[in-house]
Amino acid sequence: MTSARAASAPAPNFVRSIVAEDNRTGKYGGRVVTRFPPEPNGYLHFGHAKSIILNFGIAAENGGRCHLRFDDTNPLKEDVEYEDSIAEAVRWLGFDWGEHRYHASDYYDRLYEFAEWFIAQGLAYVDSQSAAELRATRGTLTEPGRPSPYRERTPAESLDLFRRMRAGEFPDGAHVLRLKIDMASPNVNMRDPAIYRIRHAAHHRTGDKWCVYPLYDYTHCISDALERITHSICTLEFQDHRPLYDWVIEKLADGGLLERPLPQQIEFARLKLTYVVLSKRKLIQLVEGGHVAGWDDPRMPTLVGARRRGYTPEGFRLLAERTGVSKSDAWIDMSVLEDAMRDDLNARAERRVAVLDPIRLVIDNYPAGGSERCAVPNHPQRPELGRRELTFARELWIERDDFMESPPKGYFRLAPGAEVRLRYAYIVRCTGFEKDAAGNVTVVRCTYDPATRSGTPGAEARKVKGNIHWLAVDEAVPAEVRLYDRLFRVPFPGDRNPWGDRGAPEAAAAPVKVAGDDDDDAESAERNFLDDLNPGSVQKITAQVEPALAQASAEARYQFERAGYFVADRHDHASGRAVFNRTVTLKDSWSGRGG
Ligand code: ATP
Ligand code: MG
Repeated sequence: MTSARAASAPAPNFVRSIVAEDNRTGKYGGRVVTRFPPEPNGYLHFGHAKSIILNFGIAAENGGRCHLRFDDTNPLKEDVEYEDSIAEAVRWLGFDWGEHRYHASDYYDRLYEFAEWFIAQGLAYVDSQSAAELRATRGTLTEPGRPSPYRERTPAESLDLFRRMRAGEFPDGAHVLRLKIDMASPNVNMRDPAIYRIRHAAHHRTGDKWCVYPLYDYTHCISDALERITHSICTLEFQDHRPLYDWVIEKLADGGLLERPLPQQIEFARLKLTYVVLSKRKLIQLVEGGHVAGWDDPRMPTLVGARRRGYTPEGFRLLAERTGVSKSDAWIDMSVLEDAMRDDLNARAERRVAVLDPIRLVIDNYPAGGSERCAVPNHPQRPELGRRELTFARELWIERDDFMESPPKGYFRLAPGAEVRLRYAYIVRCTGFEKDAAGNVTVVRCTYDPATRSGTPGAEARKVKGNIHWLAVDEAVPAEVRLYDRLFRVPFPGDRNPWGDRGAPEAAAAPVKVAGDDDDDAESAERNFLDDLNPGSVQKITAQVEPALAQASAEARYQFERAGYFVADRHDHASGRAVFNRTVTLKDSWSGRGG
């Protein structure tokens, strides 16, 4: 357990309360079974982390289990590549589904069998209207729908047509199977929803076995019930689908086809983060348009991106605890995520020294060819993490911005005549500097005071305000460092008011699905979100780093003193080539920008 997670009892939230109440009443006999149901049509993003942590977390807290279920009902958009990456991301977050890895497609036979049962009961019919007609007769939020001319088809006729749909006798879109519920329902989801459509398409798992595919609303509740899920936790836009969820499984349980107690759907507000986009459709555009280097570009709000950036699973859990679980939508500022990562890394990451923008410091009164070793703590608050040694010598690298030729008032670092402490070593006084033809400072000259060595008696007696880091020129090694920043420069990319205040919760748009519709998010960008990309979201530099960093293993995370948190790149860092990504700066540099 890390200190970041050490929070004693988890904070109450409404999902935890529902589960506790169900345990108290014995509704599920004390069982708690949740599921995380991604569609394998893209890489997981930060929003999914919230859902994963909630689902696996609730199960773990209650001695239950969480299933990983791939919701693979759309044969056209899905891929095994995505499945592998999703499973790896869930594991990276620290969760384990044991043997409970399922696919909605595992249930295709049962789903089909149940569909025939609904037809036989007079509770479903084959509709032969076109997609346009289906849309037109669906009604609106204020007007009821109109019954299909095929609504009164006999069960025998519908059954015959449905079997022929399955046998491949009809082209895509010729017919759909609809539940027979209520065309006048105020809830559009209850107006005879389509549950099967014809799709002559191979599926990545079932191959050519099927040319009819079940739709989400029908598939999801039945999959939950077959897996004996107790709490089916999903995001708010499914609230209006809950009556349908219950209708389908109640009917099947009444018919003796499903076991009670049935699962219950519980909706929570999705994570909405500023300065990113969290929709697969937009993430795909970033990748395909070459705006980032791939799905795992450290600037991407994907979990593979987060991992490469150096964000931590513990930081995501901390974010989840801090932002809670709510019933109404609200925006979370990116700084809350960055703070969670900082707090986790601050507690755990060992300290190292890197000079990101080096200039030379020459100590004129230090013996040429001489050197000494200075002990440096690996973590200032955690002595158990030990110490290491850095070589101190006559020529050092220091940061360019730790010297100023004519400093403003209040600048406490090096300037002609000024004194600073070289941390873990001596106090030096600046005696001069050299510039190149372009006017850039190349060398700073100083003298040191041998009586001020850190750690020796009396050395700290003389106080100076500045305290800067350094590396011996002969010992430091070059490293490629990628300074990552936010991918977008505005809080609401693509919005007409990209700096706008989003205090008030937005109503969740109910997704309206008909056969043939694809279930993409319905957000309509008012401006192109790509226009809001931050042109300074990555800067590649060559830094000088202490030798220990060249030996770091890939994915090792550090605080570079005074600079921020960095991670050895998962793919590019190797022996002989040090490559570090900046995870996050030490302090928030964004608050107060723009507006
Ligand atoms: P997107 O809209 O980005 O494509 P999705 O909802 O289609 O996301 P799925 O793979 O269908 O993605 O989602 C898997 C699970 O993750 C669902 O239970 C969904 O509700 C949840 N989820 C998706 N986005 C978020 C989010 N921003 N916050 C919390 N949970 C989310
Ligand atoms: Mg989806």
